[in-house]
Amino acid sequence: MKEYDLKQVIDEQSIRSRVKELARTIEADMRYCEDVVIIGILKGAFIFMADLVRHFSFPMQIDFIRIASYGTGHTSSGEIRVTKDIEVDIEGKHVLLIEDIVDTGLSLKWVMDYLKKRKPASLKVCVFIDKKERRECEVSVDYVGFEVQEGFLVGYGLDYSERHRELPGVYEVRFRNG
Ligand code: 5GP
Ligand code: MG
Repeated sequence: MKEYDLKQVIDEQSIRSRVKELARTIEADMRYCEDVVIIGILKGAFIFMADLVRHFSFPMQIDFIRIASYGTGHTSSGEIRVTKDIEVDIEGKHVLLIEDIVDTGLSLKWVMDYLKKRKPASLKVCVFIDKKERRECEVSVDYVGFEVQEGFLVGYGLDYSERHRELPGVYEVRFRNG
């Protein structure tokens, strides 16, 4: 593996206060919905989702979906399949989908289309990080934690070869020359 350094881009305290703020906004929008299902996209969203849902005071069901996308390096090719499906029936329910990062938007759009086939009453999306400038397709994101311009990020659930997910802050991977 190439040698690299990690440069912090979002600290733990900023995440904590932003997540609390986001949760308050979502709660105001969703607390009167009956039958809420929160669906996290594995693995990246696991920490964000865990922090977020602990601020909610409305009843909900929780589930996860895992997808694999084929591509080389750090970009997804758009060829996607489900490797772990949801287990809760979402028909007629209000779904909040939780994703770690929306980059080109291809993965999120694919998952949204996939879930819409199950006929939820509504489908909203909350992402921890939005890399808006790299968007390749139109995808509607309802709640965004942070906007980041560029760089490959790790920490707070995000990995580089399954490493660094445990870090409480977000870091940019900086490859060393040579
Ligand atoms: P998209 O389909 O929007 O291009 O890609 C989104 C997925 O690529 C995210 O769910 C995430 O798994 C991965 N991804 C995109 N940018 C980053 C990044 O900066 N760091 C990490 N760890 N994953 C990323
Ligand atoms: Mg992901």
